[in-house]
Parts: sequence; structure tokens; C-alpha cells
Amino acid sequence: MTAFCDVLRTTRLPPMTVMSLAASALGTVYREVADQHRSDGGCPCGWKPNLRADVEALQAALAATTQAIPPADLRVMQPVGRA
Ligand SMILES: [Zn+2]
Repeated sequence: MTAFCDVLRTTRLPPMTVMSLAASALGTVYREVADQHRSDGGCPCGWKPNLRADVEALQAALAATTQAIPPADLRVMQPVGRA
């Protein structure tokens, strides 16, 4: 968030433009990691990239973390500390 705000302040780009750039950077990281797992002598972990399934998983993760969290029910919350 600090880096994001720094970019907003220094570039004056709109927030969605900066987020799109971040998403593009993540896509580039995915492609480079996937390429390493397709080549002989690459990573030995055994992961087999599946572009369609992997992009769907990334989209689902993005969607899950951007949805509003429903307000918590105060009756089930655990008190923290004492006033
Ligand atoms: Zn690996």
C-alpha cells in the first residue's frame, strides 16, 4: 500500500492505471515462472503450468479479496483486552 501510494503521488496516474500496471507486472511474473517450469532443467518442484486454470485461480483470488467483508456480528466477536 505504501508503494502504491508513492506511485500515485509521484506519477499522478489514476488509481486504476496504477493497479492495471501492478496486474501486468504480476502477469509477467507468472509467465516467467511458468516458462521456468516448462523448460528442461528448470525448477524441480513438479508444478505443471496450466494457463487457463492458473489465470482462473488468480482471478478468483483477486475477486475474493476485493469483495466487501460483511459486518461482523458483535455477539460472536471475542473481546480483546480490557478498557
Ligand atoms: Zn517450481
